[in-house]
Amino acid sequence: MAPRRTKVYEGKAKILYEGPEPGTLIQYFKDDATAFNAQKKDVIEGKGVLNNRLSEFFMSGLNAIGVPTHFIRRLNMREQLIRSVEMIPLEVVVRNYAAGSISKRLGIEEGTALPRPIVEFYYKDDALGDPMVSEEHIIAFGWASQQDLDDMVALGLRVNDFMSGVMMGVGIRLVDFKIEIGRIWENDYQRLVVADEISPDSCRLWDIETGRKLDKDVFRRDLGNLADAYTEVARRLGVLPRNANNVTKPTLIN
Ligand code: 5GP
Repeated sequence: MAPRRTKVYEGKAKILYEGPEPGTLIQYFKDDATAFNAQKKDVIEGKGVLNNRLSEFFMSGLNAIGVPTHFIRRLNMREQLIRSVEMIPLEVVVRNYAAGSISKRLGIEEGTALPRPIVEFYYKDDALGDPMVSEEHIIAFGWASQQDLDDMVALGLRVNDFMSGVMMGVGIRLVDFKIEIGRIWENDYQRLVVADEISPDSCRLWDIETGRKLDKDVFRRDLGNLADAYTEVARRLGVLPRNANNVTKPTLIN
């Protein structure tokens, strides 16, 4: 990390620094893991390196099929160059199978296939614990316009189709995921792009054959080693060489 870089923002899992050109930022992935609104915390060695790689993989795939994202290029093990965007203060969650909060709220058994992908919005506010909000709330409080909402649903569903297909190809079920969306202004026009990150921190990923969880629920529910689970995802996607045991330690070859 360059020492005299200007920090723009620090979140729970990432830091944003000023980028080399106007309109760009550098996104640094930390090893910190938090859950339940930061009540549970730990440092998972190697997580930042894995999420930097995995987010690069998903975002550059989305860019390649015409789904706009903030991602420009990866710079090194922990950093990527991104476009600076005006963040919309919402989390967009897309669900294919019931799990987590929808199972709790509506009493649906985890793993039940939903009749169609369901898109939900949550207002990003740590003090309130990111409450679920309706389109009525979003428009009434001016967080986004009706056009933005239509575009956010369309983006969420396109990301879902891409991610579901990629994951199915490596034997993983995409149960649900969260994305965040930002605005980019081009002259007087705005365009919505996928921002933040797409990684096992913000998805539920279950092995199709065994049901093994390969996402942040491993940490939330104390189900084992989180870095091992993320390494497995990266390995299956070909993001890491097949013989890499741990991305942060040298591999002995004999
Ligand atoms: P749930 O509403 O069931 O807790 O979460 C639905 C999906 O969105 C899960 O894949 C979960 O990981 C993701 N998600 C929801 N809220 C957050 C959040 O604040 N941070 C992260 N990293 N992921 C979230």
